[in-house]
Parts: sequence; structure tokens; C-alpha cells
Amino acid sequence: MKQRRYIIVPFPAQGHINPSLQFSKRLIGTGAEVVFVIPISVHRRIMKNKTSTSTPDGLSFFLYSDSFDDGFKPGDDLHRYLSELRRGSKQAVSDLINSSAKHGRPVTCVFYSLCVQWIAETARELHVPSALLWVEPATLFCIYYYFFHGYEDEIKNNINDPSYSLELPGLPLKLTGRDLPSLMEDTKSENNWVQINMFREQFEVLDKETKTPRVLVNSFGALEPEAFVSIGDNQVKLFGIGPLIQSSFSGEKDHEDQSKTSFRGDLYQIDSNDNYIEWMSSKPERSVIYVSFGSFYVLPKPQMEEIAGGLLDYGRPFLWVITERQREEGKKEEDELRCREELEKLGRIVSWCSQLDVLSNTSLGCFVTHCGWNSTLESLVCGVPMVAFPRWLDQGTNAKLIEDVWKTGLRVKANKEGIVERDEIKRCLELVMGDDEIGRNAKKWKDLDRDALKAGGTFDKNFKAFLDEIDQEKGHFLD
Ligand code: UDP
Repeated sequence: MKQRRYIIVPFPAQGHINPSLQFSKRLIGTGAEVVFVIPISVHRRIMKNKTSTSTPDGLSFFLYSDSFDDGFKPGDDLHRYLSELRRGSKQAVSDLINSSAKHGRPVTCVFYSLCVQWIAETARELHVPSALLWVEPATLFCIYYYFFHGYEDEIKNNINDPSYSLELPGLPLKLTGRDLPSLMEDTKSENNWVQINMFREQFEVLDKETKTPRVLVNSFGALEPEAFVSIGDNQVKLFGIGPLIQSSFSGEKDHEDQSKTSFRGDLYQIDSNDNYIEWMSSKPERSVIYVSFGSFYVLPKPQMEEIAGGLLDYGRPFLWVITERQREEGKKEEDELRCREELEKLGRIVSWCSQLDVLSNTSLGCFVTHCGWNSTLESLVCGVPMVAFPRWLDQGTNAKLIEDVWKTGLRVKANKEGIVERDEIKRCLELVMGDDEIGRNAKKWKDLDRDALKAGGTFDKNFKAFLDEIDQEKGHFLD
């Protein structure tokens, strides 16, 4: 049998690159070869920040220009960026498929992450199977699916009504407005409009497929059993292949991830001068608070002050990631955090860290998280209780799952202006750090996550089922 050759095209953001890279490593573990298709600017950043010396055997990069080779910066034209990203990535995938075929090494399947839905069209035109890599929980897939299949008007008309509650077919949840993706609000915001239309186009792409569409989900059945079967296999097939996390942290070893310094896809520089891990390790077990709002979101200054106040009032050591992007924003406002000196006496502030090293450190007591899906999964895999602090996009749904379904954390309550005040932050920290049941649940999910990745676990089973379908469709790849 010929070696299988896969193409992976992630949307160029940290939350897509990380799971796509871990997925690539898993595919390489099955003996396949993977070509990772990314813009020039993203490749430059990954190579500049990489912590290991070489890329894994079996993984290669295919680069394209999105016309923003120095990176997309705040203030740049979003429409032009997206249209250039579309043009550049489509051309790259088409060149790669054609040259692979010409050299007798045809592409088995093209995987694309959310927000580069146009890649499916390119693959179809060239008669190569493709599948969406959904880098969110299955529950969110279902919510978007129902939104675009009959529920749009109802949700838009009610999402801001505090008494509204929604039950969707097969999902065991009563969803209120704050549990639904913020993109579903009918706002005048340009960004909102652009992004919801990307999702709309993605679901149209799936609807247009001639066979039942297949979606690989970065989650697994035990986490969301109802969501995986809610829509029905005759409409769309969901394959749970998560958690897509560096295997040395999920208890499994593969041929590449033998150490915690294996190849990473950081777009940001980990401050190597800061000895935050040694500092954490010097603290008692379960005493440190970790605070991060992911790679992208910029908090308003008043919210930063409230978080600082909450951490100081609670008085335990903390590690707080304040990204360069957030710092740039801070510079525009009058001045830095008011209580910076006091903060630095109690905790550490870094601009980027190795999050999995932090989450797996025994001194960690709880994670104050914006509930991005990667952070949520990483916290579950490491068995860390959470203070769920969602801000926008799909984070409210993840917070709902954390608080009500997995019961591994508590969600903060915002005031009328949308700010979470310092007293509320302190209250949540006290409850989560002191609650044995939340701690026990966190441990339970950690064990289940590990089962999913074991040899013969859900990744192996579901990915094999997916491949069997691809092979049936493209029998000639089996020769
Ligand atoms: N991350 C990291 N170091 C940091 C902050 C975040 O390595 O200091 C990683 C984190 O482990 C996760 C990703 O960045 O894999 C963020 O993805 P997520 O979906 O949580 O949030 P997003 O950045 O997409 O909002």
C-alpha cells in the first residue's frame, strides 16, 4: 500500500494551528505523511519561536503568500486580508494536489479547519476527498448547524432577552442568550457580520456536498455523548478524534512527542528569561492561580483593573498572561495597571507561556480562563478546575459545558456594564479553590480524556472508521 499523503490547511490563528499540528502528529503516527499549508508570515513566526530543533519526520510545510507577509496587524483591511487568504490558500492547495499527482504520490485527503471553508471547493474540483477539522466542541457544531437550519430568526430575535431559553433537538441543555455564540447576535458590528458569514458559508459548503459530509471534531464521545448523535448520521457524520493535545501531556507517548520540548506551533515568543515554571514549582501543591484570556482577546482597561484587584484580594500566588497585543492596547490608555508593584510581589506576569507545562504543574490550583476551546480541553486533560470567564464568540457555550455539564468550574457573573468586578472574581476563586466536588470532577474528566487517546481508544477507532469511508470512495489509493 502506498504511504498515505494528507494536506492540512489551518486558519492562521493560534487556536487553529495548535490542534491542526497535533492532528498532523497523530496522522504521522499512523505511518502517513503530512503537508501543512500555511502563509509565509505564520511559518516565519513558528520557526522563530520554536522550542525544538527540528520538525517531526513526515511533516513538511507548503507556504503561500496571503499578501500580508509581515503578518495581519490591527487596523489592516480585513476584507482584503480574507480575500487574499482565500486566493493564496486555494492556489497553494491546487498546486500541491496537482504536483503530488504528477509525482505519483496522490493526496489521500485534504483537512481544513474552520474559516477556510473554500478549501473544500478546491479539493472537490480536483476530485480529492476533504473533511472539516472542527476545532470546537461537538455541541457548538450542533448549535451552529441548527442556527443555519431553521433556528436563525428565533435566536436572533430572542438572544438578548434575559428570560429566553432554548432547547435544541437531542442536546441536553437549556441554553440562555449568554450560552449562545455571540456571533448570533444581530449587531451592526462589521467584524461580527464578516465572521458569521464565514460560518454560514462553511455550513453551505457542507450542505452542497454530494455525499453525507464528514466532520472531524476535536472532542470525544464521553465528553458530549448527546451532541455527537444529535443531528443524525444521514445529515452529517461527526467523528470524535480529540483531545488534540500534545501527547506527552495526555499520558500517551508517540514517536515524536517523547519530551515536553517537542515541536510546537507558537506564534508568540515564550519569554525564556522568565523562570515561571521554577517559581511555580517552589509553591505548595494546588496553591497557584493561572490567568489567561488566550492569544487574541484584548480586555478593556477597567476589566484588567478588576482582575488585578480580585487577585490581590484573594492573596494567593498567580501566573497571569498579559499578551503583547494586550500590552499594546494598554499603552494607548493613560497608564499601566495601577497596582503593578503589588501584583509583582504576589505573582508573575508573562507575555506568553507554555500553557500545558503550567496546567500540568502540581502547584496549580485553578485556571481563570476565557474558555477558548483549546484552553478548556487542555484544562480538562490536566484535571485543573476552572473559573470560567467567557468574553465573546463561542466561549459562553464552553463555559456552560464547564459549569453545568462537566461541573469542573464556576462561571463568573458580570455587572450591567459587562464588567466582572473584583469581589466577584475573589468569590469565584474562593469557591473553586475550596470546592472538593469540583476538584473530584476535574480528576474524573482527566482520566476519561486519557482513555480516549489510548491505543485502541476513540481516536484510533474513529479515525479508522473515517479512513474506511475515504478508502471506499477512492479505492485506487489502496493499491
Ligand atoms: N497558549 C499558550 N500560551 C499562552 C496562552 C495560550 O501556549 O500563554 C495556547 C493555549 O495552550 C491554547 C492556545 O494558545 O492551545 C489558545 O487557544 P484557545 O482556543 O484557548 O483560545 P484563542 O487564543 O483561540 O482565543
